[in-house]
Amino acid sequence: MQGAPDRESPQASATPAMTPFLETQIQKVIDEIYHKYKGVDDGTVATYIPELGKANPKHFGICLATVEGQVFTAGDWEQEFTIQSMSKPFAFQMALEKHGPEETLKHVGLEPSGEAFNSIELDPKTGRPFNPMVNAGAIAVASLIKQSPVQASIAAFVDKLSGAAGRRLRLDYSVLASETETGNRNRAIGYLLLNAGIIDEQVQLSLDQYFAQCSVLVNCRDLALMAATMANIGNNPVTGQSVFDFQFLKYVMAVMFSCGLYDFAGNWAVEVGLPAKSGVSGGIFGVVNRQLGIGVYSPKLDAQGNSVRGILACRELASHFGLHTFDFSNVGSSFMQWLL
Ligand code: GLN
Repeated sequence: MQGAPDRESPQASATPAMTPFLETQIQKVIDEIYHKYKGVDDGTVATYIPELGKANPKHFGICLATVEGQVFTAGDWEQEFTIQSMSKPFAFQMALEKHGPEETLKHVGLEPSGEAFNSIELDPKTGRPFNPMVNAGAIAVASLIKQSPVQASIAAFVDKLSGAAGRRLRLDYSVLASETETGNRNRAIGYLLLNAGIIDEQVQLSLDQYFAQCSVLVNCRDLALMAATMANIGNNPVTGQSVFDFQFLKYVMAVMFSCGLYDFAGNWAVEVGLPAKSGVSGGIFGVVNRQLGIGVYSPKLDAQGNSVRGILACRELASHFGLHTFDFSNVGSSFMQWLL
């Protein structure tokens, strides 16, 4: 069999180029999923950050990027939106790279909270935020990677994401201003964290860092490539750039698996079965470890704050290609087997 990745030297180009026939087949599946769900009109666009309310509810994009660097797109994949909570795994990765797990985990836990993303609650047993995927945990993480002046650490964050996306990303300053103005709940969380001794007294700086992280503009292709960079042991499969220290990716992906979709995380784990992260802008990205990255976008959200069409598309992609981590057919390279 020619397609099995070489486990000894994962970066060697051990997998064969896809044939045009197979590329067409994959494209066909993605196009079908797009057309199947583009008419679904359930959900509501988030408005608690007023600027997010301006999103076009019709937008729907899908992108899939393999660890070999092939990229497949459908619909409004070029449409940009702010990354919002999908920034959280990357900030966690940066905190782990900067401080190591021992220090980082003094400030944030690894347990699912079962609560909404914006819950004002700490783990009663440990006094820490439950995990880095809820706002409390993400603000604690932002505090770990912030610098003074904060522009420097915001630039470092945008650089990191740009490396993963394979193009230069930038902030949406209107969304940033809108969230900064209205983000009283996150400010409350910030001061709760200060009171609990989880973050230092530079609360404003930590919040500035967090709000800026949420305001990075991405499209579906960026998300899929960021996910594919995680799947590819930290190396961007298109540019070849080494972006993430791979030894920490297991922390990040494990937490995404158990906590990435807030209080829908358990259902997601069963139905889709991939480490993933959603955001209130309507994006979701998912990682098929060692195989590919998925990025989807559609701004109408369900009650848990997850994209309605995004969940439908991911569920269908996972079942169609056998991507579920615990799917009987997924033996670590099911996607490549499907292709060969
Ligand atoms: N910036 C948003 C907030 O803090 C992110 C939330 C989300 O995407 N779930 O409220």
